[in-house]
Amino acid sequence: MSRRLTLRWIELAEIDHGAGTLYDPAVDRYERLVATLREELPGFRIVRKDQSRLHRAIHRVLVVVTLGQMRDYLDSYQTTIGKTVYVTSDWDEWSADRRYVTLRHEAVHLRQFRKLTLPVMAVLYIFLPLPMGLAYCRARLEQEAYAETIRAAAEVWGPDVPRGASYRAHIIDQFVGPSYGWMWPFRGSLERWYDQILAGLGDER
Ligand SMILES: [Zn+2]
Repeated sequence: MSRRLTLRWIELAEIDHGAGTLYDPAVDRYERLVATLREELPGFRIVRKDQSRLHRAIHRVLVVVTLGQMRDYLDSYQTTIGKTVYVTSDWDEWSADRRYVTLRHEAVHLRQFRKLTLPVMAVLYIFLPLPMGLAYCRARLEQEAYAETIRAAAEVWGPDVPRGASYRAHIIDQFVGPSYGWMWPFRGSLERWYDQILAGLGDER
């Protein structure tokens, strides 16, 4: 694209976003995703988790059932229930790109709730076949959502980010560690799943 054309495109983009506002593609990407979800799922909303009595109660239950190992539910995890994405109190301070990647993950859960309905989703996610250790259904539902995390990270930061060893280890730790109640213990199968998602990235680019 010629320099003149680039400048013209930026000018047009700025007009779209109001006089005096600099066009930020990252903010735009996040806002567009929010708008798409509002249209696709009427009733969709984003709510602060620490202001929800339900989530404060879930937090207390998790501390007890994980024998104190999971204490950061309110501060570290975004959680989707039904049509609501509950976010940590620092959500608005996150970069738009980070919010975008996370919301792509939560959007998968929003669609799972719509498809399965809230009671079915809750039973599958929490109890089947076991609430901890071998939570096959929870692991499958999270694999679907983390696959989207990996694709969104590649889109925003480039495919080398999810290909990096630390990113891969971090995602796999979500499955084998206490974060989701040790939902799936088989690291080898998770690594194969992760690498399949990575292999699929090439097709989209
Ligand atoms: Zn999830």
